[in-house]
Amino acid sequence: MKIYNTLSRKIEDFIPLNPPKVGMYTCGQTVYDYTHIGHLRKYTGDDLLRRVLTTNGFDVQHVQNVTDVGHLTSDADEGDDKLEKGAKDRGETVWEVARFFEEYHFKSLNELNILRPNVVCRATEHIGEQIKLIEKLVKKGFTYQTEEAIYFDISKFPGYGKLSGQKLEEQKTGARKEVVVDPKKKQPADFALWFFTVGKFAGHTMRWPSPWGEGFPGWHIECSAMSMEYLGDSFDIHTGGVDHIPVHHENEIAQSEAVSGQPFVKYWVHHEFLLVEGEKMSKSKKNFYTIDDIKTKGFDPLALRYLFLTAHYRDKLNFTWESLEASQNALDRLREIIRDWPSYAEASAGEDDKYYQKFMDVVNNDLNIPQALAVMWDMVKSDYPTNAKAKTILKMDKILGLDLEKYLGKPIEVPEEVMHLVRKREQARNTGEFSEADKLRKQIKKLGYIIEDTPKGSKVKKD
Ligand code: AMP
Ligand code: ZN
Repeated sequence: MKIYNTLSRKIEDFIPLNPPKVGMYTCGQTVYDYTHIGHLRKYTGDDLLRRVLTTNGFDVQHVQNVTDVGHLTSDADEGDDKLEKGAKDRGETVWEVARFFEEYHFKSLNELNILRPNVVCRATEHIGEQIKLIEKLVKKGFTYQTEEAIYFDISKFPGYGKLSGQKLEEQKTGARKEVVVDPKKKQPADFALWFFTVGKFAGHTMRWPSPWGEGFPGWHIECSAMSMEYLGDSFDIHTGGVDHIPVHHENEIAQSEAVSGQPFVKYWVHHEFLLVEGEKMSKSKKNFYTIDDIKTKGFDPLALRYLFLTAHYRDKLNFTWESLEASQNALDRLREIIRDWPSYAEASAGEDDKYYQKFMDVVNNDLNIPQALAVMWDMVKSDYPTNAKAKTILKMDKILGLDLEKYLGKPIEVPEEVMHLVRKREQARNTGEFSEADKLRKQIKKLGYIIEDTPKGSKVKKD
């Protein structure tokens, strides 16, 4: 299998350090706000990578952190702590905010069939590991201390900038604004390992004792500490969004390699952004959607997953409601087709077909999932026997994750198009939009179906 490595800027053969084992670390969300569909695209990308690795016979240990402290409103050391700010905005404690949004995060991931990582680790539960790492950096002479923080001195780490390919001079000018924050900082791109609860952080509620004084860890050190704790000093894959390349991941490499003297990560995998109607998602533009927004509009969460499958992970994807509608229609159609095929038990007896090989070839070529989806449709439309097709689609779905087994060989009288309207009507009723619900009932009747509302939900029947 081949994968693009940000570090070499090339598509490389994937050869893990200790096959068949693969260590994979994924930067988790900063849990101060709702998980939105942009996040969901990124974590679906990680899920696809993990599923492809597993299908290729690798034994994947997937670790994902939860950033519940230390991430400031800028990726560099500017601004407020996002958690503290979130707590102030909501009138709750930082701990309440962190746990609430962590739960929302994993619930959202689950709706998209994103497999739960083998290890989920919170930054606040690994303060000891972070302090130990900082102690080693202090001992080795990579740090300096001001009244405000302990900083990593990037001039002591010759490889700084190797991931993003940025020269140190560019980083200096890029981050110039930051000098204002702590005048004792030697270089703008130096980053905090430990903040002291002084000055603007005097009122910080999350604080721990350390050999240097009370405070809290910077954002970057948590990922070095936890990835090395669970996967060792050198491991195979580290993932993140493209925004992590120039600061967060560059800093992780510097800290980790300064301590261990070994290459930190073999393959760096970065996912491109999801845009909304051509723009970056933001609350102020009201284009910030959660999985609940998707469901309220009557869509199946897996239609969103299907939409994500249509774009390569290194390309931007522009979300529109029309594109989600098209994905829902494609998924509905697929479900309807496979309902008429043999069920799982019968399918197992089918013979293999050439499409699966082609599917794996494109999937193994830097995760070309959009092409894999096209191969899947070629197979569906081919004249192969349906029991062979049924067997193949189940194998393909181990990667696609569309829950197709639920539909395979289970004919129902109600077409997916009608089910889509029924779901929409239920959502409308749930949100009290009764005239909309009535309209949908009429539309359903036009298609030849009627709805009976029972205490257990709506039942659909042929008119
Ligand atoms: P954060 O909580 O901001 O650190 O984000 C968690 C992960 O989601 C990071 O890897 C980000 O790169 C990624 N992410 C945030 N917004 C988007 C987006 N609109 N599209 C894709 N990935 C995103
Ligand atoms: Zn991280």
